[in-house]
Amino acid sequence: MALRNITIKGDEILAKKCKPVKEITPRIAEACADMVETMLAADGVGIAAPQVGLLRRMVAVQRFDKAGEPFEFFLNPEIIAMLGENKPGGEGCLSVPDMRGVVSRSQHIVLRYRDVDFVEHTDTIEGFTAVIFQHEVDHLDGVLYIDKTE
Ligand code: ZN
Repeated sequence: MALRNITIKGDEILAKKCKPVKEITPRIAEACADMVETMLAADGVGIAAPQVGLLRRMVAVQRFDKAGEPFEFFLNPEIIAMLGENKPGGEGCLSVPDMRGVVSRSQHIVLRYRDVDFVEHTDTIEGFTAVIFQHEVDHLDGVLYIDKTE
């Protein structure tokens, strides 16, 4: 389905806090497909469910830290530790068109999440991929990177 990406100009949904995913329903599966389609169309590296209009804790992230750099889904992602130093880096957002800004983020996180089969995992993620996760998990709490720019 062709989708509009929700932008800050268009919708208050981006400022809302998302609810946890409790089970994989058809609506959740549909949102997963919408997220990938929207992200690929915009040449993005990550997307959160509220950006396609669903207030559930769900993100898709391109895993630059894995062979083949796959897009993967993360349900109820929770950053349980930030290790090491913060570093400033350039960021943009599909929902904030035509803007970029510098945000200081941890370069090393520990993430707890459920996969699309609803199995729980804990993963240690470093570098640019760790930065993407922090940006996307912020979306689930109604926080945009422009709230954090230096
Ligand atoms: Zn974003």
